[in-house]
Amino acid sequence: MQHFPVFLDMSRAHVVVGGGGEIALAKLRLLLKTEAQITLFAPEFTPEIAALRAHVTLIGRALQRSDLQGATLVYAATGDAAEDARIAALGRKAGALVNVVDNLDASDFLTPAIVDRAPVVVAIGTEGAAPVLARRIKAQLEEMLPASLGLLTRIGKGFRQIAERLPQGARRRAFWAEYYDSVGPRALEQGGESQVAQTLEALLDRHLTQAAPDGFVDFVSAGPGDPELLTLKARKLIDRADVVIHDRLVTPEILELARREALIIPVGKQGFGPSTPQEEIHRLMIAHARQGAQVVRLKGGDASVFGRLDEETEALDGAGIRWRVVAGVTSASAAAASIGQSLTQRGRNHALRLVTAHDMKGYAEQDWRALAAPGAVTAVYMGKKAARFVQARLLMHGASPLTPVTLVENASRADQQVVATTLAQLPQHASALVGPAIILLGLAPRTAEQLPELQEHAL
Ligand code: SAH
Repeated sequence: MQHFPVFLDMSRAHVVVGGGGEIALAKLRLLLKTEAQITLFAPEFTPEIAALRAHVTLIGRALQRSDLQGATLVYAATGDAAEDARIAALGRKAGALVNVVDNLDASDFLTPAIVDRAPVVVAIGTEGAAPVLARRIKAQLEEMLPASLGLLTRIGKGFRQIAERLPQGARRRAFWAEYYDSVGPRALEQGGESQVAQTLEALLDRHLTQAAPDGFVDFVSAGPGDPELLTLKARKLIDRADVVIHDRLVTPEILELARREALIIPVGKQGFGPSTPQEEIHRLMIAHARQGAQVVRLKGGDASVFGRLDEETEALDGAGIRWRVVAGVTSASAAAASIGQSLTQRGRNHALRLVTAHDMKGYAEQDWRALAAPGAVTAVYMGKKAARFVQARLLMHGASPLTPVTLVENASRADQQVVATTLAQLPQHASALVGPAIILLGLAPRTAEQLPELQEHAL
């Protein structure tokens, strides 16, 4: 991020604009939405600018050094490169932040695209990379945010102090969520501003008399990494969680979806490396739920696949804390999808095995004869370090060294890698991987010719 978005208090700002044509007018229109004191310098103005005389101080000459004392922001908007550069240099000397319109490199700050529902304001910037994209996002947000949002928020703001009678945290949030999601818009539609104020009082009374919610733990499947592979339910629960306790496999993009005030606790478990003891994870979940928090225990892939889910649910049962499991996409599904293959296929395999290559005691034994049978398909989890062991066992039980094997590292993530190989070559490929990987035994990627649409997507 080269440009960091901030919201400037314009009620105390003095903005100086250099330029009297269309370019300056476009900036003026934006600036006039704010409370800033604005002065514009130009030897000549268009009639549209002259018409704004009541709101902007217009000075009919080029800008000079002494004009910039106390300026907060300076817009060089003359459209003349040399004149803009002169204004920019003067602005900087005076200690102001300078924007040279349409000249990113010469500017200290950018003016974002804005969706205005003040006090709710959304600023969209692309650091000059894609103005078209910024306009599209703006159009989508304009549609998404009702025009009444500004008014609802202003009324809500006046009520914030009164709402402090509700304890901070989940209960106060529930009150505001109900106001903005349903009660507020409805009251505004039915009876206008005065009705909204009355409804807020009634809503607060109801929330004050409601009992505090009990703590709860949701075991939420985070999927293989791509946030778009989260279920809607997962998305909703992460969004409202007070505490998120997550595995190492959960990607930053997904954690980013949690509220800023949410407590995020990593309890990383490396295959063979350092880990948070299971008892500590139990202790954390129980302690937070007992305080009334909505806890999300976020697990990579599907929570019920090699996730030590039962130990954690049993610990909660023992402590009398309610919980539920939210299903998700396991990494074997994402790995198969990435190579355009199905995990089962009529005439090839009637069964699919999800196996782990090692457990707490070491390498895990399997029904190797079944895994070695022609056509068998097996997704091996946690298999990188055990690849040689798996290979030896399969060969010993009659598998062909030419059995297709596909390794999918970081499935569904931007850094996904697919390695198509055979059982004979499995160990050397597996040892080269660093990220989490699924080994698909018995599956080769469908060739690109057979999947023209996949090829197109890759472009
Ligand atoms: N519950 C998880 C599995 C946890 S065990 C699930 O359903 O996917 C951890 C193993 O999952 C890793 O060693 C790796 O084999 C696999 N894994 C998790 N995320 C992965 C990803 N994005 N790509 C490939 N393999 C992944």
